[in-house]
Amino acid sequence: MTTKTAKMKLIDLKKELTEALTPCSAQEAAFEADCIIADIIGCSNSVLRLETLRELGPEDCAAAREAVQRRLSGEPLQYILGKWDFYSSTFFVGEGVLIPRPETELLVDIAVRELGGRKGAVFYDLCSGSGCIGISVAKAVKGSRVFMLEKSSAAFEYLQKNIALNSAVSCVPVLGDLLEGPCFGEEADMMISNPPYIRSEVIATLQTEVQKEPVLALDGGADGLTFYRAIAEKWLGSLKRGGILAVETGEEQGEAVKSIFERYFDEITIIKDYSGLDRVVFAKGKR
Ligand code: GLN
Repeated sequence: MTTKTAKMKLIDLKKELTEALTPCSAQEAAFEADCIIADIIGCSNSVLRLETLRELGPEDCAAAREAVQRRLSGEPLQYILGKWDFYSSTFFVGEGVLIPRPETELLVDIAVRELGGRKGAVFYDLCSGSGCIGISVAKAVKGSRVFMLEKSSAAFEYLQKNIALNSAVSCVPVLGDLLEGPCFGEEADMMISNPPYIRSEVIATLQTEVQKEPVLALDGGADGLTFYRAIAEKWLGSLKRGGILAVETGEEQGEAVKSIFERYFDEITIIKDYSGLDRVVFAKGKR
């Protein structure tokens, strides 16, 4: 029998953590156990598979068990690890900043495709949060420059740290409120945004983990569309003629968001994600 002060083989610790995590993360329990152990010993999940017989000391085992306790109390795994991968980079995350979601990579793909051919493109990333969108695009499109707007000072600290972590020198972070309109002093070739889009009344029904994320990053007002309207009414004046807009939307908001923007553009489409749900409204040819 193992005691709480003994050394433990990685494979046995993983089994213990997986069982303990099952009530809160079911199918994902083994993956989460891997993430926790990999973080503690400082390697990747794939390297872990080659290390199953490695012995972990009592401090490492205690740290892993503490992480599991935090997880069982509903804290998101990403906040416990303090960082998360998105697109092809790593970002610091923690309380006060929205966790990068895999479906948001679609927005990055679109921006990279559209900006790729434009020399010295300038784009805006509105409601930047961790900065995962703007930084990923800036890294992929050499020679581009991005102005990144974030309202929350807690999130803004993560944004600044993530720009430094990714050596993304062409990113200009600005603390400010989207609802107040443009403040960058330079027009954009493209605007990108993943604004808060959840209807206010739905917030209290979201899963425990999402409720630990900042409400400021989720709450899109009574109908979830407040920020899209503000982009249309206040920000499009700073988008160059012929410019492009790409915004993430909630899974059933495609039509509503399209109707807010269509009169400003020559072409507009709703793009579905890999689960077949509305995810991005993409508009070209700003009038
Ligand atoms: N995609 C997030 C969620 O479903 C919401 C992010 C947002 O409001 N922009 O929890």
